[in-house]
Amino acid sequence: MAPIAGWSVDGKRVEVRAGFPAGKLVVDGGDELKLSAKGVWPVRLGKRTLTLKRTAAFLGPKTELFAGPELIPPTPAHVGQVLAPDGSLCARHREAAALITCARCGSFACEACAGPDRTHCRTCLEGLAADAARKAAAAAYMAPVVVFGIGGGLLGALFGGVAGAAAVAIARKTESKALKLGAAVALYGVAAIAYIIVAVLIRGSPSE
Ligand SMILES: [Zn+2]
Ligand SMILES: [Zn+2]
Repeated sequence: MAPIAGWSVDGKRVEVRAGFPAGKLVVDGGDELKLSAKGVWPVRLGKRTLTLKRTAAFLGPKTELFAGPELIPPTPAHVGQVLAPDGSLCARHREAAALITCARCGSFACEACAGPDRTHCRTCLEGLAADAARKAAAAAYMAPVVVFGIGGGLLGALFGGVAGAAAVAIARKTESKALKLGAAVALYGVAAIAYIIVAVLIRGSPSE
């Protein structure tokens, strides 16, 4: 099954996969840890200890991985770590020994220029973070509202927007993902039916 979220750090893969009740953490295909919808967990990876944080969010918990205070953006598939060849120097600091070869742009990065995943340079990691943020935002509740807007114009957007706001309010009050999803589906469903009825009434009303 595809992971819910995954990160590549130091050549190892950290994934959150589906599991009862709120998913599980799998470190490099080995150690498994049961997760709850909200919390903070240490993730041991070689000599480093990362931090997995989960907070309540619309349509399920938001899961983030940190190296110290730094956020590590997720990657859809595993990205291996490429160590810089011996004696190579950082592309930006000609006096500093390179630690890694960036997996994306191929430049040599020293300890300071390598991102917290020690797989990408900081510039490439910023791009990955922006991609991930865009995907997360698109997947959230705005998607159904946009569909309502396209399909139903202003009236549709109004009904969809009301349903979305109500679904967000419910999502904030419960930990159960099933309940959040159920509420969102039911609310958007009711909004769709209400929209159709109102649209038919408006169009079908005798104009004499
Ligand atoms: Zn790069
Ligand atoms: Zn550098």
